Amino acid sequence: MIPYEVEYLRASSVQQALSILAQNPEAKILAGGHTLLPMMKLRLARPGLLVDIGRLPELRGIVVHEDSVSIGSATTHAELEASAELKRLAPLFPLAATVIADPTVRNRGTIGGALVHADPSADWPAVALAMDAEMEVAGGQGSRRIPAHEFFAGFMSTAVEPDEVLTRIHVPLPAPGRVAYRKFRHPSSGYAVAAAAVAINVAKDGYSWGRIAITGVADAAFRAWEAGALLEGSFADLPDKVDAIVEAAFTNVTPLEDNFADGAYRLQLGRVMLKRALVDALEPRRGD
Ligand SMILES: Cc1cc2nc3c(=O)[nH]c(=O)nc-3n(C[C@H](O)[C@H](O)[C@H](O)COP(=O)(O)OP(=O)(O)OC[C@H]3O[C@@H](n4cnc5c(N)ncnc54)[C@H](O)[C@@H]3O)c2cc1C
Repeated sequence: MIPYEVEYLRASSVQQALSILAQNPEAKILAGGHTLLPMMKLRLARPGLLVDIGRLPELRGIVVHEDSVSIGSATTHAELEASAELKRLAPLFPLAATVIADPTVRNRGTIGGALVHADPSADWPAVALAMDAEMEVAGGQGSRRIPAHEFFAGFMSTAVEPDEVLTRIHVPLPAPGRVAYRKFRHPSSGYAVAAAAVAINVAKDGYSWGRIAITGVADAAFRAWEAGALLEGSFADLPDKVDAIVEAAFTNVTPLEDNFADGAYRLQLGRVMLKRALVDALEPRRGD
C-alpha cells in the first residue's frame, strides 16, 4: 500500500514531544515505525503529524541502579538482545528479544513502541509482566509510574494517554535468576500465537517464588497470578507441581480466535508453551 502524505517532526527532547502532542491532537509518537507505518499504509491509523522520538538519547539505553535497571523506551529489540548488563541482571529480556521477528525488525523496533501498541501477540508485554516492571510515563503534569499489571488495559489498549510518552521501563533488582521464554510463532508474521514467560527466584535455603505471564492467547498479555503463587515454596517440590501450575494459568481465560488458531487450539498451545518454559526454568544447573 502507498502511504499518504503526513507531516513529520523530529523532537529534540521529550519535553518538546509532549508540547507538540498537547498542541496537536492529530499527532502521534513515532519510535521504530515498525507497527505504526504499516498501520498507516493499511489506513488503520491516520495521524496527521508524526513526532519522531526514536533517536532521543534520553530515551535510549540501559542504566543500572542499585535496586533497579532502567531501560529507555526507544531502546531497540536488538540492543536488548545484545546487552551484557541485562544478560547478567535480568536475562529474560535478552532471551525474549532473540525470538522477536527477524534481525531487520529487531534493529528498528523499540520496546516502548511494542509496549504502548500492546498487540495481544507481542512479546514484551509478557516479559514486563513476569519481571514486575514499572513503566514511567511523562505527560503535561509530570511523570508517573505504572506497574506492568495495571499498564495493559485490554485489546491494544494501555494506561498511556494520547498526549503522554512512555519514557523508561524500570525493572526491580535483584531479578529472578531462573527465567525462561517459550513461544509458538505464527508461521508468517513471527508474532506469538502463544508464549509463556517464567521467572523464578530461588533462595540459598531452597525456598522459591516466581511469576508467570502469558501472551498471544487472550485479548491482552496477562499475569497468571494463581499459577505464579504455586511457585512459592520448596524449589525441590516444583517439578511435581508443573501440571497444576499449567492448569491454574489457563483457568477462566477467554482465548482469542482467528483463522490460524481457534480458541481450544490456542489454549492448548499456551499450556504446552508454559509447560516447556517451566521445564526450562527448573532444569538442574551446576552447583544445585
Ligand atoms: C514483520 C514484523 C514482524 C514482527 N514480529 C514481532 C514479534 O514476533 N513479536 C513482537 O512483539 N513484535 C513484532 N513486531 C512488532 C515490532 O516489534 C514493532 O517494532 C513494535 O511492536 C513497535 O515498536 P516500534 O518502535 O516500531 O513502534 P512504532 O511503530 O513507532 O509505534 C507503535 C505505537 O506505539 C506508539 N509509541 C511508540 N513509542 C512510544 C512511546 N515511547 N510513548 C508513547 N507512545 C509510543 C506509537 O504512537 C504507535 O501508536 C513485528 C513487526 C513486523 C513489521
